[in-house]
Amino acid sequence: MTSEQANYRLPVILAVVMTVLAGLGVAVVVPLMFFLSSTDVCQIRPGADRDRESVVGPWGPHQVDHAETIIFQGIEQGMTPFAWQIALATALQESRLEMYANEDVPESLDLPHDRVGSDHDSVGLFQQRPSMGWGSVAELMDAATSAQKFYTALLDVEGWESMSVAEAAQAVQVSAYPDAYEHWAEEADILIAELTGLESWAMCAYEYSPPSVGASGWVAPVDAPLWDGFGTRGGQHFGVDLGAERHIPIVAAATGVVRTSECNTPQGCGEGSREFSGCGWMVVIDHDHYLIPEDAVWDGMATRYCHMQSQPLVSEGEWVTAGQVIGYVGNSGDSSAPHLHYEVHQNVSPSGRVANATAIDPVAWHEDVGAPL
Ligand SMILES: [Zn+2]
Repeated sequence: MTSEQANYRLPVILAVVMTVLAGLGVAVVVPLMFFLSSTDVCQIRPGADRDRESVVGPWGPHQVDHAETIIFQGIEQGMTPFAWQIALATALQESRLEMYANEDVPESLDLPHDRVGSDHDSVGLFQQRPSMGWGSVAELMDAATSAQKFYTALLDVEGWESMSVAEAAQAVQVSAYPDAYEHWAEEADILIAELTGLESWAMCAYEYSPPSVGASGWVAPVDAPLWDGFGTRGGQHFGVDLGAERHIPIVAAATGVVRTSECNTPQGCGEGSREFSGCGWMVVIDHDHYLIPEDAVWDGMATRYCHMQSQPLVSEGEWVTAGQVIGYVGNSGDSSAPHLHYEVHQNVSPSGRVANATAIDPVAWHEDVGAPL
């Protein structure tokens, strides 16, 4: 027995116990731990743990205060964490979270401000312009009111929920530098995590209930409509496309070991494009028979999950259970809209390396194991 196999002993025993329980008609409640942690991460702790003088990353106390105000205003208006991220990324790009007065707007100089700028008649955290109907100078130099106006404008953008941060921000701001917003998406993410205590805030953006794993031990990786089937595109589509919304959690379809967790797009794993190659942020999970009871028929099974929004939540060598969240639906890699490209493989070599030749139809497989896509 290699040391690698030895590490699998406990999970194998658990898998055997679960299989026996399943055989007795007892529900296999694999996602129980997830239920607990899900409740926990969705509990917002607004500023509770924060010392007022604290800094977050490169941002000083007054900038962090403004970030917190933007998030609280979002909560107040019932906006999702994705909306907070768009608002924060916008304010980071427009003002670096500094309250700007404007030397050409005399009234602004009499209001509390952090800095003085001179771009048109733009003022405040979002650089909104009184002359363009955004509101009064006093309103736009109040952090909460300016954020409220930002969110209200965002709600008027049709389909903003499935846009990228940059697209949504650009639709609201009509900026000369649309791509700049994407750069701040990650920084906004960090601020949200720090200020709300939401470690995995994306899953709180939706009324998300963890899937229940069937007696076969399999579960659909997302609950979403089938966009494109297996074997389309002249036989060159080696998986299925499930049209889930951006940020929806993706779960492991069965218990196994993570073989690959990486960005495999040479152009990088930000927002994807059909000009790019590869799968973007992706995960391969090995469900091979040596990991699970002898009588199971998972011969060299593996599953692959592509185009995730951000770095997967699991790393190589990590044991994952069926139904565990491994990442979020996104649009990285060779992709033109948020979706999950999902592959099922059979007769994979012991290294867990998947190939086009090992791909089988995920729809047929999931029918067979009683966990339809
Ligand atoms: Zn696909």
